[in-house]
Amino acid sequence: MRLNSPLSPSSGTQPATPASPLPSLGGFKRIVIKVGSSLLVDRQEGGLKRLWLEALAQDIAFLHRGGADVLVVSSGSIALGRTVLGLPEGNLRLEDSQAAAAVGQIALARIWSEVLGDRGMTAGQILVTLGDTEQRRRYLNARATIGRLLDLRAVPVINENDTVATSEIRYGDNDRLAARVATMASADLLILLSDVAGLYTAPPSEDPDAKLIPLVPRINAEIEAMAGGAASAFSRGGMRTKIEAAKIATTGGTHMLIADGRIMHPVTKIAEGAPCTWFLTGSNPVTARKKWIAGSLEPRGVLHIDAGAAQALCAGRSLLPAGVQRVEGRFSRGDCVVIRDPQGAEIGRGLTAYDASDAILLAGRNSQDIESLLGMPGRSALIHRDDMVLAGD
Ligand code: GLU
Repeated sequence: MRLNSPLSPSSGTQPATPASPLPSLGGFKRIVIKVGSSLLVDRQEGGLKRLWLEALAQDIAFLHRGGADVLVVSSGSIALGRTVLGLPEGNLRLEDSQAAAAVGQIALARIWSEVLGDRGMTAGQILVTLGDTEQRRRYLNARATIGRLLDLRAVPVINENDTVATSEIRYGDNDRLAARVATMASADLLILLSDVAGLYTAPPSEDPDAKLIPLVPRINAEIEAMAGGAASAFSRGGMRTKIEAAKIATTGGTHMLIADGRIMHPVTKIAEGAPCTWFLTGSNPVTARKKWIAGSLEPRGVLHIDAGAAQALCAGRSLLPAGVQRVEGRFSRGDCVVIRDPQGAEIGRGLTAYDASDAILLAGRNSQDIESLLGMPGRSALIHRDDMVLAGD
């Protein structure tokens, strides 16, 4: 691979190249790559496609070395486990898919750890359930773990925790899970590697005149109609879940693309211009998240802060307990609270990292004392700057 490969993030921050309306991969800073079961697991043999995975790991290493954060959402636990357990073809009963996932996930985690490890990267496994992305409290936990892994330059490898997820509480497909993860991690790009090259005007298997749509600027009824149904028993997501994923991603400020993963080095191929479908967002992840905080949450309390803290917030810092003078309201960790300056004016809102009772104990105190005050270690900020929106934002 050339040194100035299209995969290496450029020093600039603009993904768009002047020659093309489509972004190049070089400008993205945080990329989620979703790998479908049918790419990873051989349908006939039930075993892993090792060579393909190694080639993908090489692509990931290239992005990673270039400075991008990379997260992997990997399917395949059920597909791997069902063969080992000798389960029948076709749709599995819930308890069988849970058992298959239990067996397959161990193998999947080991394989990712090996292929990434062999290329100098550390894999960290995260298994999530629907509640981890949909309930604010747990959302903050999952996001903090992902954030910390990325700070440490590890590659989070994420799947749904299919061993405990029942039908009412599961995503069931990793397309939407990957989109939630991407917005949760404030990723700027989600790549869905699939067994089709993208969205076609009609199902290509049925219509020889079907054309690939390179760019979807907005998802409307026409686009949804093109998606049809089409999921197989082997992997769950069809085009419909991919369009759902695109809606989640683009509303959350993440660009998304669907590309053919059946080729070797699929990410390099995208960077070199292989056909794919882009879904562009008009927003960016931080703005989208801030909009969500500012608009959709009912504040549950107020934090009155001192002048020094107000200044620090305006300079882009997090709110530390030391700057808080008074705490009002009954709120829980993850709730939205209003931040007021010494004159009582609202200067912003944010998601609090502590329950009201703990915030009262911590108010005015140094972050180093958190452990002795609460009897356990805690986050140093009461509201992290990424979880805060200021009046002027
Ligand atoms: N989480 C499932 C698995 O690992 C896959 C879901 C999907 O195929 O999208 O087997």
